[in-house]
Amino acid sequence: MSLKPILIHPDPRLKKVADPIARITPEVETLAADMLATMYDAPGIGLAGPQIGVNSRIFVMDATRDPEAEPAPMVLINPEISWSSEAQNSYEEGCLSIPDQYASVTRPSEVRLTWLGLDGATHEREFDGLWATCAQHELDHLNGVLFIDHLSAMKRQMITRKMVKLKREQARG
Ligand SMILES: [Zn+2]
Repeated sequence: MSLKPILIHPDPRLKKVADPIARITPEVETLAADMLATMYDAPGIGLAGPQIGVNSRIFVMDATRDPEAEPAPMVLINPEISWSSEAQNSYEEGCLSIPDQYASVTRPSEVRLTWLGLDGATHEREFDGLWATCAQHELDHLNGVLFIDHLSAMKRQMITRKMVKLKREQARG
């Protein structure tokens, strides 16, 4: 298990549509373990393949909010939304690829997802609250969409400029 560097926006690898995973192999299992370790270390509640430069349809999440609660790691491969609620919910979102920037994004408050699990079986489940927000945010990543793409062009450009500056500073060391 190893921690992977997380790509920071803007990066062309964050804007690609990711490829489906054909089957569960030991490499996919290792990838999932690395992604969970990287997500918990960050710390974050979700991480998608493209964020570590892997252009595959996989994301991990654990939106357990109570720090006392047992962790509930989830690995979703080739996820799809099979149903979204009419009801919408706004949540102050952030992203490990856009550090320290938060903005309110409105999305369906409940979604039903189908996905391939590490066990090789197809799973289906409904998510609400923070889990629903997180799942939709991560699924967006697999389609090259960032949460700032849901904001006005002005807000998006403002955040992007900050990230360009941050990356320039990081490059200088
Ligand atoms: Zn994100």
